Amino acid sequence: MDAPFLPFLPFTRPSIDEETIAAVADVLRSGWITTGPRCRELEAALAARYGGRPVRLANSATAALEIALRIAGIGPGDEVITTPLSWVATANVILEVGATPVFVDVDPATRNIDLDLAAAAVTPRTRALLPVDLAGVPADRDRIQALAAQHGLRVIEDAAQSMGAHWRGREIGSFGDLVSFSFHANKNMTSIEGGCLVLNDEAEARLFEKLRLQGVTRHADGGMDVDVLGGKCNLTDVAAAVGLGQLRQVDAFNARRRRLAQRYFECFPPTLGFELPPADFEQSNWHMFQPLLPRGTDRGRFIEAMRAEGIGVGVHYPALHLFTLYRARGHFDGQFPHAEDIGRRTVTLPLFAAMNDADVERVCAAVARVMQEGGA
Ligand SMILES: *Cc1c(COP(=O)(O)O)cnc(C)c1O
Repeated sequence: MDAPFLPFLPFTRPSIDEETIAAVADVLRSGWITTGPRCRELEAALAARYGGRPVRLANSATAALEIALRIAGIGPGDEVITTPLSWVATANVILEVGATPVFVDVDPATRNIDLDLAAAAVTPRTRALLPVDLAGVPADRDRIQALAAQHGLRVIEDAAQSMGAHWRGREIGSFGDLVSFSFHANKNMTSIEGGCLVLNDEAEARLFEKLRLQGVTRHADGGMDVDVLGGKCNLTDVAAAVGLGQLRQVDAFNARRRRLAQRYFECFPPTLGFELPPADFEQSNWHMFQPLLPRGTDRGRFIEAMRAEGIGVGVHYPALHLFTLYRARGHFDGQFPHAEDIGRRTVTLPLFAAMNDADVERVCAAVARVMQEGGA
């Protein structure tokens, strides 16, 4: 008997409702399509979400992180301690401002930066910690804050993946130093492309505004000045209209993701030798569901065999210190064994808000077939 036809299930897909599409059309008809009222509305809504802390938008989280480093005064000669198990943007922004990324290995249980190793990596040149909440599992904010306080460091949280996640009951972004979120299409909430930075005070917010747009300060009389070199990374109102529609739904999206992740734990084949991700149903926003393949599995063949089953599988991420750019800076195989092992074995299975339990069951059944048939 032929299997019933099932459409291809990607590893992620944004949920954009009709109300949001109508709001985008309104912006396009309004005559004001770049940065304007919708951006200010989204900034205000995010600030309200984070307890009144100032929030400023950028056209990517990468830009927001780079500006955060500049606001913290980080540049040539400075060291920033971070994780090698992240999207490469995390380290690229450190290079972009002329500073040195100092990588330390991850804790294999959380897959986030190992804070004992981070403490041991502090030198007189260290200026900041740049932790990442991989897959939406928050890095330990208590220990990060304590380490930063002990050495007088800034903390730039790469919370690109953790919007709506919590640390000990407090939402990520509502406390801490500088916190960056991404609204890339694959994240839990999207503005197509985009991101934001949560800041400490209005002075930092003003500096962010300058750094995101050519360093310009406008005066009430219509004149302007430029007193600092800024870039060009403002968000458009079209993007902000998408973001506003998403912000209304992100908590519901995240609740749905958590339920789907639970279903994965209930039906993932237990005997195949996969390592499941941390079972965090309190704090994570379940940005991704990432089991590690059994050792010795050919990941390329696994992905191909899953694709033949109609299921998309992603890889987020290989250890970034092994990229050519970072090897050329002296990094090498075996330097961070946990990050490298996870980076080689990780796969991202479908998890997004529009899925249902049956989709998860379908993925689990496909994994069982693919592994039992020796497809990988
Ligand atoms: C997505 C992501 C970024 C970059 O976000 P963009 O909005 O695409 O620039 C940075 N760090 C991490 C961990 C990410 O997942």
